[in-house]
Amino acid sequence: MTVDIDAYWRNFIGGRWVDAVDGQRRVLLDPATTEPLAEVALAGVREVDDAVAAARACVASRALVSVRPAQRLRWVMDIGRELAVRRDRAAYVLSCDSGKALSEAYAEVDGAVRYFEYYGALADKLEGAYIPLGDGYVDYTVPVPHGVSAHVIPWNYPVEMVGRGIAPALAAGNAVVVKAPEVDPLGCHVIVEAAEAAGLPAGAVNLVTGDGPVAGAALVAHPGVDQIVFTGSVDTGRSILHAAADRVVPTVMELGGKSAAVVFDDADLDALVASTRWGIFMNAGQVCSAMSRLVVTDAVHDEVVERVAALGEGLRVGAGIDDAELTPVVSAAQLERVAGFTDRALSGGASAATGGGVLDRPGWFMAPTVLVDVDPRSEVARSEVFGPVLTVLRTSSAEEAVAVANGTEYGLAAGVFTRDLDRALWTADRLVAGQVFVNEWYAGGVETPFGGVKRSGFGREKGQEALRNYVQTKNVGIRVGDPRAL
Ligand code: NAD
Repeated sequence: MTVDIDAYWRNFIGGRWVDAVDGQRRVLLDPATTEPLAEVALAGVREVDDAVAAARACVASRALVSVRPAQRLRWVMDIGRELAVRRDRAAYVLSCDSGKALSEAYAEVDGAVRYFEYYGALADKLEGAYIPLGDGYVDYTVPVPHGVSAHVIPWNYPVEMVGRGIAPALAAGNAVVVKAPEVDPLGCHVIVEAAEAAGLPAGAVNLVTGDGPVAGAALVAHPGVDQIVFTGSVDTGRSILHAAADRVVPTVMELGGKSAAVVFDDADLDALVASTRWGIFMNAGQVCSAMSRLVVTDAVHDEVVERVAALGEGLRVGAGIDDAELTPVVSAAQLERVAGFTDRALSGGASAATGGGVLDRPGWFMAPTVLVDVDPRSEVARSEVFGPVLTVLRTSSAEEAVAVANGTEYGLAAGVFTRDLDRALWTADRLVAGQVFVNEWYAGGVETPFGGVKRSGFGREKGQEALRNYVQTKNVGIRVGDPRAL
């Protein structure tokens, strides 16, 4: 099927689709062809001011908190339903502007729908507590929304990240301002179309697309923002944390990763290869929790390398919209960055079991790459490449494997492949990461808490736990008199 892509997309502020104040537009390019795809109204400081003002007015009106929680439940679930109605449109524009495979774009849209279902259903279950203080006192806690919740979204999963953030934020009663990624914002627009159709109060959901250092920086430093939810790179996270520190604003930081799977000699290698397909080659490896390193026991190292290299070589390369298995990376800058990592690795002594460079074809395509003979201390073994580049590291003991797996500044995800339960649990206990996958990379779902340790950030998204990111606890203590004294 094909969906016509609108030629021009506006920002959504205070319940209206609006042009940039000064009329500025940005041309989006198709990663598979590098041809122009559509234009967006480019937001700057003034649009961010307007969006925050609209969200503040919504908060001041108490429109989201004065209603019965069941009303918020319906609003949030209705966004999911309206997004499901727009499933083809959302998946198609997401595939076209991000370059990802159409089936992956559908899966991402379906995942976003799930966030609205899941957190919508929790909107009327966010409860406080009664705290016993003995005679003469009544004490209770109230989960209070922050107010204006700002969401700065990365380009690799723009639709999923908006759903993951704004569904619990709205369920808890916050108004939101979304800063869409400047390279592929169109899927975010379709979610906001769904929110508009769901009939939330004006100003509850606002969307601006603009450059990070301009619109993003203005949003996170804005005095009208009460909470910042950021997903993106460590460097940007650090600069946002400085802005948040200046105003003492709470943040959720979902940052990068360099996640390793430890592969023991008794591992089910079919399961490992299946996980590698999705773990490093899905979305051309542009996944924060990608399985970008395999730490493999000597006994199976060569067989693993042979099998994952064959997997990479067998992938059908092409445009996302043709549902290819290996799709382009999102931009020319990203391709240059990924190729830079592999060039330096190869000239530093690593070898490529397959791939190793840019593909000679139109579009921003990096060859599926498997690097071997890599020094665990080298750049490519420790830095987030964010492309279809798998690094295989050889180890000779479980202790060494865990040390190598933990040997980066990141701690987002980790994994272990073994048929031995004791070994799996021993390793899972020692891997320093926010989530550990055993025998299937990405085992989990909307229901399972997700987030990082070390430089991968803090705070957990997904699961019931994440709803608590979006409220602060107010305690009300009441002195109660004795009626017999009246
Ligand atoms: P990025 O940090 O460059 O940009 C992320 C967002 O921040 C974009 O919307 C960008 O416009 C904005 N931004 C950039 N500079 C800013 C500034 N100074 N102030 C405010 N906003 C600013 O990251 P990216 O390249 O879009 O995404 C890739 C990174 O995101 C990777 O490191 C990846 O691991 C990470 N990521 C993490 C998760 C997670 O859940 N942990 C999920 C997806 C992506």
